[in-house]
Amino acid sequence: MFDDATRPALTWASLDRAAHLRTDEDALAAMRADPRARALPFRKRDPLLTGADRGALGWRRMDDPMIAGAEPVFLGLADGAPRYAVGLGDVEPPEGEFLEMRAALLGGAFAGDAAAVASMALALVNWHRTHPRCTRCGASTRMTQGGWRRDCPSCEAVHFPRTDPVVIMMIERDGHCALARNVNFPETLYSCIAGFVEPGECVEEAVARETREELGLGVGRIAYVSSQPWPFPGSLMLGCIAETTDSAFTLEEAEIADARWLSRADVKRLFDGGWDDMAPPRRAAIAGTLLEDWMHERIGWT
Ligand SMILES: [Zn+2]
Repeated sequence: MFDDATRPALTWASLDRAAHLRTDEDALAAMRADPRARALPFRKRDPLLTGADRGALGWRRMDDPMIAGAEPVFLGLADGAPRYAVGLGDVEPPEGEFLEMRAALLGGAFAGDAAAVASMALALVNWHRTHPRCTRCGASTRMTQGGWRRDCPSCEAVHFPRTDPVVIMMIERDGHCALARNVNFPETLYSCIAGFVEPGECVEEAVARETREELGLGVGRIAYVSSQPWPFPGSLMLGCIAETTDSAFTLEEAEIADARWLSRADVKRLFDGGWDDMAPPRRAAIAGTLLEDWMHERIGWT
């Protein structure tokens, strides 16, 4: 039944990554000079967004003075036209605005697969911005392979963009699901619990450990549902569902402010805005699609 799970936002962008071109220096040079080439500038972490509702990506020509001198990262081909991301410092936008990506995403302004392309670009820009030095010897590294690798000229180590796996799970018990409010969430937001996969753990072990730590529940069956890249700063959210027979929460106080069991009717009421002190996760986040899938009985056992 999990084949029917919803495709999360930020996935399956139409961009062709054309990975075979990353190691082709001649092709990379030709693409940079292609008049159809465009780059998406980021001011630190914030993409340039345009359009009335700021839902369109602010692609710039490669000879734009704003991005001259910056190192573009090759994202791929859009209908054959090269697309890049460029990480910048403090610059003023010629038009549009540099906006915080997470707010823009959760606000639902993006059209088509703009959010997916911007999130891929942001993950790469974040990685280059925070990894200027070799983690083995400390020397400055240089961007290679169109931005998909950084090489150390001193010790010859090669470094690849990192993605950090995070488990995020629906906890189900007898026709109810557990939603929790993290201490860092806005006042009324309730969502699925989540946590980083630790070294030496498989996904199922991480689901069981985090559920035990955060909610004090033991879990039985665990199943993978869907995943979502989440570029804040470079996570891969692994959406799962886990079954428990425990009902009493023991909350990890440093992290979880409150947790509640909701029936499918309760969840429907939550999405309909019928709850004064509870708001559901946004649909742009995988927690929103997991919860919606569960509400519609696309996932779950009870
Ligand atoms: Zn090195």
